[in-house]
Amino acid sequence: MIPDSAPNSSIADVLAIAAHRDDVEQTCGGTLLRMAARGLRTAILDLTQGEAGTRGSAEERAREAAEAARLLGVGWRQALDLPDGAVENTLENRIKIVRILRLVRPRVVILPYWQARHPDHAAVAALGYEACFLSGLAKAPAVRPTAPSALTEKAAVNADLPPHRPFKIVYASLYADVRPSFIVDITPFVEQRHAALMAYRSQYVNQAAGGGLFVPEEEIRERTFAEGRHYGLLAGVRYGEPFVQKEIGLVDDLTLVPVQSI
Ligand SMILES: [Zn+2]
Repeated sequence: MIPDSAPNSSIADVLAIAAHRDDVEQTCGGTLLRMAARGLRTAILDLTQGEAGTRGSAEERAREAAEAARLLGVGWRQALDLPDGAVENTLENRIKIVRILRLVRPRVVILPYWQARHPDHAAVAALGYEACFLSGLAKAPAVRPTAPSALTEKAAVNADLPPHRPFKIVYASLYADVRPSFIVDITPFVEQRHAALMAYRSQYVNQAAGGGLFVPEEEIRERTFAEGRHYGLLAGVRYGEPFVQKEIGLVDDLTLVPVQSI
């Protein structure tokens, strides 16, 4: 199933990168479950620790993220230390992600769509794309040690890992007002996806903190299932998650193209 370009040292076939713990659960958790059910190895990289959240501490969110990963069948999950609420596309941040890409060596990377209400989400789309590009450069300027600096120290770690560029980048577009390129059918996994989201008890269980800001617990299920139903209907299935790809699609056999026209 996996092309021979994926080396044995790869940790995962599909890596989802997101700004905040619980982003992936909301936008592509069902897809990760489906990929795991197909026998693919999945991984999640959260770029921040969640220290700026209204509810819960970074430590609580770390425990919850581990539990959510278990529920999603995700074999590898880590969080970087980018500032929550101030994620920027800088060289230093790109290099942090390059280190992960060269370690995990995914064939597919899932990023958030590039237009988003939360500035961190939009930033991750560009930051993640540029990190994927940089990761494939054997002699990337950032990786080549030049002068003694903190950057060089990190680059030295990078140099130990061979270059790796993911074959495919797709953008999870659940919260974007954009027509998806394709839908992943998550119908058999929608309950498990919900369970993974609700693993973030510090965020979603009803409580006084952030009461005016957060959606009540009982409405989260209705909203997330309604979104899943909406995107599923676009592709003729019950529940779906939407994605955008920048590239054009390629078809081998017209009789096998899915989604009924009339
Ligand atoms: Zn987020």
